[in-house]
Amino acid sequence: MDFSLNEEQQSWQQKARKFAREEIAPISLERDRIADPLRTFDWEIIRKGSKLGFRTAVVAKERGGHGIDFVTQALVMAELAKGDSAISKTFSQCWKWSHLIAAVCSEEQKERFLKPFLADDTYVLGYGLTEPSAGSDNRLPPEEDPKAGLKLRAERRGDEWILNGDKVFIANGSVAKLFFLTVRTNQNAPLREGTSMFLVPSDTPGFRVGKVFNKSGWRFYQNAELIFEDARVPHTNLVGEVNGAFQRRDGDTTGDAMFGSLELAANALGVCEAAWEQALLLVRTRKEGGKPLKDQQRVQLKLNRMRMLTEALTSYVLRSAWELDRNIPSENASLAMNLSTDVIQEVTELNLDLHDTVEPLNPAAEKLVRDSIIWSHLAGDTVQRLRVARRLAG
Ligand SMILES: Cc1cc2nc3c(=O)[nH]c(=O)nc-3n(C[C@H](O)[C@H](O)[C@H](O)COP(=O)(O)OP(=O)(O)OC[C@H]3O[C@@H](n4cnc5c(N)ncnc54)[C@H](O)[C@@H]3O)c2cc1C
Repeated sequence: MDFSLNEEQQSWQQKARKFAREEIAPISLERDRIADPLRTFDWEIIRKGSKLGFRTAVVAKERGGHGIDFVTQALVMAELAKGDSAISKTFSQCWKWSHLIAAVCSEEQKERFLKPFLADDTYVLGYGLTEPSAGSDNRLPPEEDPKAGLKLRAERRGDEWILNGDKVFIANGSVAKLFFLTVRTNQNAPLREGTSMFLVPSDTPGFRVGKVFNKSGWRFYQNAELIFEDARVPHTNLVGEVNGAFQRRDGDTTGDAMFGSLELAANALGVCEAAWEQALLLVRTRKEGGKPLKDQQRVQLKLNRMRMLTEALTSYVLRSAWELDRNIPSENASLAMNLSTDVIQEVTELNLDLHDTVEPLNPAAEKLVRDSIIWSHLAGDTVQRLRVARRLAG
């Protein structure tokens, strides 16, 4: 297989590398240290990245975006994440929902929502699925039970839908200008048959942001509570059919649907590379018991394992992206995400172990470990393992 990159791919990769090194990395630790989760966010870095195309990178060229392919998306994400995993995720969260707009919205909705998104450097996107009493069961719902899964409900009144309920942990929740929202439109049907999707702008009457959640890792990233009290959403913001939110994407292995997995695997790759750089700097410059760290066998074994796992993940991420660019049906992006959860956690732990011998709890090494723990939670890693195994077993 040919892994060489074309000129456009190399140029985006270089641009992302420069931005991560010069703009993202210098603010990473200082943002991470801010105690109040509402104040960790920085609009300046979003504006700067947006001007370079990192917010709108995946919107099709004919619609005014950059239309980068999946290999480029993986490369850019890995580079940005090397600077800071959570800042890069704020950008790629916009890619994820740009993919969804392309895949499921009507022409009229694309026109209406992509225009302001493309024009405004601070127009960030989000998606509300999770609720206080519904997380994994939204992703792997019991087939027959109408009580399982999300509860936020919408009732039709003329040309509007009236929404009541709460969403929690929603990424970009306190900063997004537009949300996709999955809501119950039939309380008596199981989740797959009673749920609809809406586009909900942040200035919707009856909608407000509640608390921003405090997290041990990804502290820049805003995970917020969304509160709907008789919120009024026009019928024209319904995406697809009433009660059709889940059926629409079932079994979809196109790039638009699989991007969420590719994105996380590529982001993990960037974190592994950051851990590797930290480890190399340490072992080349520090001694223990009078002997350079790099000359000690136990250190060499750790370095070997860090590199081996990172290279394996690199290959899997690029292969998955290459397949998505060619519309090759496969579970590889999902599996690469699961692999990335294991790899990022082991590689960042190894880096912290290496540091601990000479610099206990080095803040930069410790941050990478905290960030890596997010992979076990954010997109239902365990549930995805079950879902993929079920699909493969038939
Ligand atoms: C950083 C971050 C960003 C997020 N962004 C968003 C967002 O933008 N939008 C959104 O809607 N949600 C978002 N979430 C929420 C996320 O989707 C949920 O946390 C996730 O679905 C798990 O739900 P839960 O936290 O309620 O855990 P639970 O569902 O209570 O699960 C707890 C544990 O049990 C395991 N488990 C659950 N069911 C099973 C099963 N059947 N078999 C085996 N193990 C099982 C899970 O894997 C998990 O380890 C985000 C979360 C985080 C941490």
